[in-house]
Amino acid sequence: VKIAGRLHQISASIGVTFYPQPQEIGADQLMRQADQAMYLAKQSGKNRYHLFDAAQDRSVREHYETVSRIRLAMARQEFVLRYQPKVNMRTGAIVGAEALIRWQHPERGLLLPASFLPLIEDHPIIVELGEWVIQTALNQIASWRTEGLAMRVSVNVGSRQLQRPDFVLRVRSLLAAYPQLEPGSLMFEVLETSALEDLGRVSHAIDECQKLGLWFAMDDFGTGYSSLTYLKRLPVNELKIDRSFVHNMLNDTDDLSILNGVIGLAHAFDRQVTAEGVETVAQGRLLLEIGCELAQGFAVAHPMPAQEMPDWCQRWHPDPAWLGVVPMHPEDLPLVFASVEQRALARAISECLHNGGAMPAVSTHSDGALEKWLLSQAHSELFGSDDLKALDAGYRRVLDCATTLHQLHHQGQEQEALALLPQFTRLSDAMLGDLNALAVAAARKPGLALTA
Ligand code: C2E
Ligand code: CA
Ligand code: CA
Repeated sequence: VKIAGRLHQISASIGVTFYPQPQEIGADQLMRQADQAMYLAKQSGKNRYHLFDAAQDRSVREHYETVSRIRLAMARQEFVLRYQPKVNMRTGAIVGAEALIRWQHPERGLLLPASFLPLIEDHPIIVELGEWVIQTALNQIASWRTEGLAMRVSVNVGSRQLQRPDFVLRVRSLLAAYPQLEPGSLMFEVLETSALEDLGRVSHAIDECQKLGLWFAMDDFGTGYSSLTYLKRLPVNELKIDRSFVHNMLNDTDDLSILNGVIGLAHAFDRQVTAEGVETVAQGRLLLEIGCELAQGFAVAHPMPAQEMPDWCQRWHPDPAWLGVVPMHPEDLPLVFASVEQRALARAISECLHNGGAMPAVSTHSDGALEKWLLSQAHSELFGSDDLKALDAGYRRVLDCATTLHQLHHQGQEQEALALLPQFTRLSDAMLGDLNALAVAAARKPGLALTA
């Protein structure tokens, strides 16, 4: 535009929105959308157009609504903590409880953390909520104490909270309100998977908190991409083995190997080790056999309201199958692996014949864990040679039968194979029984001293 002989350059920034939209929309709001889009056009350098993004707008708005709803929930005291006991399976001691947050939503019922924590993970409000959890847990420890129950409570801390410069300061001031509590009544669980960007700072924070008497556990150990770096750099007292490894430990030798390895690492680094998600007595026993005494999971107790805890502590007894089981000698571990291998083989064969999966290779099992163990026991005085012979013979029968099944399957004789399957299952179960008896005997022989 020329004004008074001088040239003025102008540009246009355009905001665009469309009508109709999937949702009913008024003229006012339509103009506001276009306006908002125009501002974005200006913001990103002017002289351009910008299309209003309804989906993004909705997600920003929803996020805002979530955050303000959570703020309201805090004000209305809709959050509650549940406590899940952590025990020593061998001695039956109750060693603590983990505080787990729940949202008692007035319309949606009791919500698990997975349904609301991820929504606010990157918002500062997560730190406020985290402080509420610590405060509430401390309150609970104090109140249990007046009832005569001494309980160490562990609280999950998010990485955002832990990495704040004032974390130690905040913790110190929260603790100051409870001078009557012994140091060590509170412990923190740090998620291994949550990216801890500043390892130096985190490690310093852990150090400082430990000086206040706090304990630290590395949560979900084994699931992150830098477990070993964390193990080396972070001075935590305890590793909690992720429940995904426990879940399949009875059927998957890889998971069992990882468990065994992590337990070994924990002992080597002098860290206590707890297994998460122990759901069955058998899992618990196997964990004891490979050297992990501390456990948490549905086989012990589900998370419960605080007021149920004193009663539960009175009533709880460890399963008789756990009491006194000591870790096996490393040389007997192949017995444990052999059971898991055998169960995996039996499962895979049955799966293949019933549902058409791949037929597992049988021949490789001749160099399996059991063969090695049998060889190593040739001169053992601990096991009667009759027992060993019986196991060996049972094992051959299982392998022979598996080989026949294999051949039948490959010749397309599925009916014949299916007819033979019950016999295979019987042989396999008999062998597992023998293995089990030997494992029990091995676990009761003078064991290794445990460090934890
Ligand atoms: P987590 O720290 O690994 O907590 C253990 C979770 O496993 C809990 O789920 C618990 O109920 C569940 N669990 C316990 N035993 C068993 C079992 O035998 N089998 C199975 N399948 N599950 C079992 P929950 O309460 O839903 O918590 C999920 C996650 O949310 C927790 O995982 C933790 O990472 C996080 N979380 C919970 N409370 C808090 C909190 O106050 N603050 C923060 N930052 N995170 C929390
Ligand atoms: Ca935890
Ligand atoms: Ca966990």
